[in-house]
Amino acid sequence: SSSVMWFRRDLRVRDNPALLAALEEGPVTALFVVDPAIWSGAGPARRAWLAANVLSLAERVPLTILHGDPREVVPRVADGRRVHVSAETTPYGRRRDEAVGEAVELVTTGSPYAVGPGLVRNGSGDPYQVFSAYARAWRERGWPEPARTPRSPDIVQGDSHQRAVGLLEKAVADAPFDLPAAGEDAAWRRWRAFREDGLRAYPRERNRPDHDGTSRLSPYLHLGLLHPRSLLAEMDTTSTYANEIAWREFYADVLWHTPASAWADLKPGLKAMRYDEPADAIEAWRTGTTGYPIVDAGMRQLMHSGWMHNRVRMITASFLTKDLHVWWPVGARHFLDLLIDGDVASNNHGWQWVAGTGTDASPYFRVFNPVTQGIKFDPQGDYVRRWVPELDHLPGKAAHEPWKSDVGYEQDYPLRIVDHADERREALERYQAARG
Ligand code: FAD
Repeated sequence: SSSVMWFRRDLRVRDNPALLAALEEGPVTALFVVDPAIWSGAGPARRAWLAANVLSLAERVPLTILHGDPREVVPRVADGRRVHVSAETTPYGRRRDEAVGEAVELVTTGSPYAVGPGLVRNGSGDPYQVFSAYARAWRERGWPEPARTPRSPDIVQGDSHQRAVGLLEKAVADAPFDLPAAGEDAAWRRWRAFREDGLRAYPRERNRPDHDGTSRLSPYLHLGLLHPRSLLAEMDTTSTYANEIAWREFYADVLWHTPASAWADLKPGLKAMRYDEPADAIEAWRTGTTGYPIVDAGMRQLMHSGWMHNRVRMITASFLTKDLHVWWPVGARHFLDLLIDGDVASNNHGWQWVAGTGTDASPYFRVFNPVTQGIKFDPQGDYVRRWVPELDHLPGKAAHEPWKSDVGYEQDYPLRIVDHADERREALERYQAARG
């Protein structure tokens, strides 16, 4: 008999247990559905990245590409056959799959994670609240070996809708800037290069936005071009790098247990917190014109490349939540619109971590100082000058403090929109008030 493999966030052939399960039943129809609910909510860079990777998969296997609500499209294609998927664990994905599962027999094998969300539990069967305990149990539990999917799987030719393919092609053509190389092979090249050249120095280099010392695998991991289990099979699982993979798994686990934490405070402790909605200041933050060089560099890196270094994600998120007193979902929404690795679990819980409403024992009163952070992690100012050309005449760390130079503003760099010391005090006062 034959079956359907419905690809979503697992756009690869290698190490794909769901595809393997489908192939074991006989010839497979490989399906991708452009879901308007996801597509219409995504910015042009995200669309281009998704589209390029779907088209890349279509070069590798005969992929049937359709457009429409999966609840209608999938049962039509299945026509009574079983539909294989990799588990989707976001709130939207779960709802959608539940609905599709009412109309077809959905067979779920594997997930985008080494250990599926919900599986790591403490002795009483409860989820872990804190990362370090989760990571220990995660490692102890372990994960299966990579699945051996055939290199040329037996997939039957299907009929794509030209309209759906056209949407994807147009999205690629409309990419607002150069994106990373798309596809499964590019993902593996990236990983292999990092494993050779970057992995050893990673613990020391990972916090340096000026050095390009991280793997840049997040856009690939997000769409499942490679599976984290494939990476873990090729590294020391007690390494700093494996620990970062564990963060990704932890946040997916948290979201699985508390889907509401996607857009609401995970911890109820700050319910009484007073927030502002300063439209002009939020716009300055979005466009990278706050007058704080490291914040502006990060926001422009996001705007012009669809990615931002982790250290700078923390600094820019802290600036919005603590210096501008804006509730974190406003920032999380903006990041999700622009990031090509934008992931509701990692992003929104990353925001909650910074905002002090999240999983961490981390206190709200940790407020990042954007100037000292900049000087510490971008000590020569190279990162700032790369993204903020109005500061490219200021040498070394002077780029972090244009207000200290006679010529700091000669290229029309904006003045600081707020005073960090004042806003830090204000943030702490609001925090005290909210805690009663
Ligand atoms: P590396 O340092 O090479 O790390 C390897 C992999 O580990 C990453 O690709 C990622 O999958 C995972 N990882 C690393 N750090 C984290 C972390 N703190 N949380 C979860 N996973 C992690 N990551 C996303 O994938 N998507 C997001 O939308 C996202 N939004 C974020 C928002 C904020 C406010 C913050 C503070 C962090 C966010 N992160 C997000 C986590 C982290 O910034 C990115 O995963 C990382 O910068 C990606 O670059 P890289 O692949 O070079 O990372």
